[in-house]
Amino acid sequence: MAHRVRWLGHAACQITTEKGAVILIDPWISGNPSCPIKKDDIKQADLILITHDHFDHLGTDVPDLVKSTGATVIVQPELADTLRKAGVSSDNIVHYGMGMNIGAEAEIAGVKVIMVQAFHSCAAGTPAGYIIILDDGKTIYHTGDTGVFDSMRLFGDIYNIDLALVPIGSVFTMNPLQAAVSLSLIKPKVAIPIHYRTFPVLTQDAAEFIDLSSKKAPEVKVEAIKPGQEVQI
Ligand SMILES: [Zn+2]
Repeated sequence: MAHRVRWLGHAACQITTEKGAVILIDPWISGNPSCPIKKDDIKQADLILITHDHFDHLGTDVPDLVKSTGATVIVQPELADTLRKAGVSSDNIVHYGMGMNIGAEAEIAGVKVIMVQAFHSCAAGTPAGYIIILDDGKTIYHTGDTGVFDSMRLFGDIYNIDLALVPIGSVFTMNPLQAAVSLSLIKPKVAIPIHYRTFPVLTQDAAEFIDLSSKKAPEVKVEAIKPGQEVQI
């Protein structure tokens, strides 16, 4: 047995732990042209992590997913307000409905989640990334939408990161070169490129990222999977 990390297209990811906890990150399901599943295919979620409020991350499914699964949502306070207005109960938002902020952590269903900074834009709150420590210590870093920044090195030093989910699409996030350099800072064992090909303006394939990563961070194994596929850690 192992933990399973499935890419649902764009920034959406689904982690199923060895013990059966399910974590959704940025579940833009409805309307996501590269998502291989439907909202109703998600039967279980214990945690939903939202990096920021752009449509391709927050999406429109979170209130329904919370209702159908009872998941707890991790968001910043400003986005907690947005979700409450959309019908999500405070009981389903982290820290008694208050949300949390950069540097903070929450532990739910045996999974520890730390919110970290990301450099991007959004309407409410600030963009974030997440470091997710599973019950056996395996650690996943979803950077959120961001350019490269030197504190990624700090995260690599503080947390022993097994898997990094990094955007490579350019236009809105890191391009393939920045994403490759980010791996040299984060030092994960494995990396999955995300946030590309969804729209015509984005980088259309992972070839350049794979090539640059082999030069900038040769010790990192890059797994360029297709939406719907998963990696085990
Ligand atoms: Zn985005």
